[in-house]
Amino acid sequence: MPQTAFQNAMSQLDKAAKILNLDENIYTQLKQPLRELVVSIPVKMDNGLTKVFTGYRVQYNNARGPFKGGIRYHWNVTEDEVKALAFWMTMKCSTVGIPLGGGKGGIIVNPKELSVGELERLSRGYIRMIYKYVGPDQDVPAPDVYTTPQIMGWILDEYEKIIGHHAPGFITGKPLSIGGSAGRGFATAQGGVYVLTEAVKKLNLRPEETTVAVQGFGNAGSNMAEILSGLGYKVVAVSDSKGGIVVKNRQVGLDVKKLLEYKKQTGSVMGFEGTEDITNEQILELDVNVLVPAALENQITVANAEKVKAKIVAELANGPTTPEADEILFKKGILLVPDILTNAGGVTVSYFEQAQNAYNYYWTEKDVLEQLKKIMEDSFEAVWKCKVKYNIDMRTAAFVLAVERVAQAMRDRGMA
Ligand code: NAD
Repeated sequence: MPQTAFQNAMSQLDKAAKILNLDENIYTQLKQPLRELVVSIPVKMDNGLTKVFTGYRVQYNNARGPFKGGIRYHWNVTEDEVKALAFWMTMKCSTVGIPLGGGKGGIIVNPKELSVGELERLSRGYIRMIYKYVGPDQDVPAPDVYTTPQIMGWILDEYEKIIGHHAPGFITGKPLSIGGSAGRGFATAQGGVYVLTEAVKKLNLRPEETTVAVQGFGNAGSNMAEILSGLGYKVVAVSDSKGGIVVKNRQVGLDVKKLLEYKKQTGSVMGFEGTEDITNEQILELDVNVLVPAALENQITVANAEKVKAKIVAELANGPTTPEADEILFKKGILLVPDILTNAGGVTVSYFEQAQNAYNYYWTEKDVLEQLKKIMEDSFEAVWKCKVKYNIDMRTAAFVLAVERVAQAMRDRGMA
């Protein structure tokens, strides 16, 4: 039976713990979250009937700082998935050295089936159920799959109404007008681009000769495709939940700006001019230099890892590759740049957003991107050094670094 996302996450922890010879007292504490909230959210639907949705907030570890992590709205959300994502957030913040812990939230819902009003009532209802356990110094949510700056705005407004004063640092990924940060909208993708640029250099590839396929054309994936094509990379294939496309002529990449417009009009990337339709499975197996999974977990598995032809897999999604697939990719000599490094740009700019909220003074986009670039490049180099030192894959190297930093904070707090 395939492992669950949380079981995969724990296999990753085990691998790093073994290399670090991790203290048993720390290890036991890292095997489960500190707190899990499961809530029922009654929502008055437009037809007058009340529907009850299930929501989660998992607070994994806060040894290095307040819990931090997005809120996912998806019909397949489970407690197991939210736990895995909360663990990965802990490791992600640690990998890039920002003073935050890890948490995550989710609601079992298909937001595409809700009206705007229903979505707003659901979002406000969610925060009413968990407000006692979150806050700028406790737990700071943000957007994730199918949640947006507008949803963050509603949640912030409800939270501030309950507590009776402004607290913009309680949530990140907000609209700019209410304390959002410049650059946050595309920070995950931009961080991924900084990291991928370093990986491409290690393999002596030049952007103009590098072909890229991106699975998932949402916030993370579409921004990454757009930035990469602006830098001269050839983005030759992309996909969304309905399916994917690949260019007929591999000599020229997609016109990503036009494609974004096309998706806005038609609701999907499929059928775009000059392309052929492919499936979400096929996009992973294309003969390209770089594969960017930017959708959901468990996409590269034991069933298809052998067929991956890319030289670099840059994980913009969380948990797209299973531990068994990791080993296959490593044996094939594919350079996998792991999620907890590749997609850490989002939480890094969320951290900048909180810093700006705390002193109520706002940075320019240029300031944000300069700081982000430095953190992403330094983190890539630190993970690379660790990989070389232990002769291990990049994911295990990132986990070794991250687990050791969390463990140090726990030891310094007397938690060992
Ligand atoms: P999003 O809601 O903006 O977009 C999700 C995209 O994935 C959509 O284009 C959707 O059509 C597509 N999709 C859904 N199911 C799919 C499937 N089965 N196959 C292919 N495509 C599918 O979400 P996002 O914020 O871009 O998140 C994508 C991934 O990036 C997630 O794993 C998320 O956890 C991760 N991530 C996001 C952020 C962030 O700041 N938004 C930060 C770090 C990591």
